[in-house]
Amino acid sequence: MNLYAELLRIIGDSERVSVNATVLEQHGKGVAYHDLHLPDVVVFPVSKEEIVEVVKFANQHSIPIVPFGAGSSLEGQIIPVTGGISLNLTLMNQILSIRSDDFIAVVQPGVTRSQLNQALKKYGLFFPTDPGADATIGGMAATNASGTNSVKYGVMRDQVLGFEVVLADGSIIRTGGYSYKSSAGYNLTGLFVGSEGTLGVFTEVILKLHGIPEETSDVKVTFPSIEAAGGAANLLLKAGLSIGKIELVDDKTIKAVNAYKGTSYREEPTLFIELSGSKPDVENSMSIVHEIVHDEHCVSFEFENDSLKRAQLWEARHQAALAIMAANPGKGHMVTDVCVPLSELVNALKHTRKTVDKYGIDAVIFGHVGDGNYHAVFSVDTNNEEYMKKVKEAHKEIVQFALSKGGTCTGEHGVGIGKKSFLVEEHGDSLFIMKGIKAQLDPNNIFNPGKVFDSIPVRS
Ligand SMILES: Cc1cc2nc3c(=O)[nH]c(=O)nc-3n(C[C@H](O)[C@H](O)[C@H](O)COP(=O)(O)OP(=O)(O)OC[C@H]3O[C@@H](n4cnc5c(N)ncnc54)[C@H](O)[C@@H]3O)c2cc1C
Repeated sequence: MNLYAELLRIIGDSERVSVNATVLEQHGKGVAYHDLHLPDVVVFPVSKEEIVEVVKFANQHSIPIVPFGAGSSLEGQIIPVTGGISLNLTLMNQILSIRSDDFIAVVQPGVTRSQLNQALKKYGLFFPTDPGADATIGGMAATNASGTNSVKYGVMRDQVLGFEVVLADGSIIRTGGYSYKSSAGYNLTGLFVGSEGTLGVFTEVILKLHGIPEETSDVKVTFPSIEAAGGAANLLLKAGLSIGKIELVDDKTIKAVNAYKGTSYREEPTLFIELSGSKPDVENSMSIVHEIVHDEHCVSFEFENDSLKRAQLWEARHQAALAIMAANPGKGHMVTDVCVPLSELVNALKHTRKTVDKYGIDAVIFGHVGDGNYHAVFSVDTNNEEYMKKVKEAHKEIVQFALSKGGTCTGEHGVGIGKKSFLVEEHGDSLFIMKGIKAQLDPNNIFNPGKVFDSIPVRS
């Protein structure tokens, strides 16, 4: 069968069905370290009706379909490991409605978070989920993304109220709705969030919105040890302050940033804190933060209200991953993503640094200290088998430590290709339920095969 000709017949527009080598490559690699696998064809649908036709055709012929948003996911989620169709959803980028009095927006999946926030400004509203990349809402929902704002607003699963989804047989279903709460049956919306393109294609997403806080101030505090920084963070969280973000970066990471940027930030464990809310709340929180961190023997304390200077204050945190990337041009990047109970975070960070040093490899480490999620970022040459082996072993030890404390192998990036092996250990005897759901919804395994699980049960 000539797949290109068949898809061109369905879409009817040669501009939106591509076998161009560059386009195929853009849809076959991802931004991390995973191997390239090209799709056979890339399709750019503009309507749900087109998606339905493509999915029906693919299901009939058991052809893999990999939904594609901005392609910024870090676990090889968009790589078509068995070829087939890459379904690029970026042309479905309409904000369908903003119901400002309901604090709700309805969007197509290709809308990006910055596009949405730009449109929301005039209503005094914003959408809080902030992965570092300018990802699409469809991709963010499919990976249950979060970021620095999650300590205050929660993760993507907390923001999605409902979906319109095209299922493997081409039928369209709606989940959830426009109410903030529902106890009506199983939470299918929550199930599709984090499904990594393996259960269906989102064609509409209903999102919760939030008011833009009146005041925002930022604080950077350094400590003599990571224990002191972690202890202070814990006290700050317990104090019930207006914390919008709270991030912890270790001294070696600051050192890497200084080397990359030519800066002279203090090379000590550092807490980056954003306070947001009403002016009196933020002012009151600021004075309590000052008091607590001094009681906890901080070494230095800086704060800023001005928006430009606030961004500068965060530079060492925001440049952390770039520092290691810049120091290792041409290499791939492997990012660990464990999440542990809050009381274990300092121990976990120390364990990770020790593990990295033990293997003689290089990594920057930074954590979302408000939710126990943190990353070690490695630069890797995938052809260097010995180095890859060490990185993989270190990753395994980091995950096993997290699991031994009741944590998870991935707090926000998802499973994709890179973390499949950890799911058995993490979910044990409940994994068969997940596989059963996949087999029920996608019996021909057309949606993003080879991701999340290695195999699914075959229905007789
Ligand atoms: C520099 C950098 C920093 C990052 N920081 C963070 C961070 O702080 N927090 C965080 O959570 N992530 C972070 N990420 C990872 C990434 O931005 C997120 O995983 C993001 O949610 C991916 O969105 P995307 O639009 O790029 O999706 P893609 O990468 O295109 O796709 C991701 C997954 O979603 C599926 N998918 C896409 N669209 C649909 C759809 N319409 N229907 C069904 N499935 C779909 C795909 O099949 C794939 O499995 C970072 C990435 C980079 C490069």
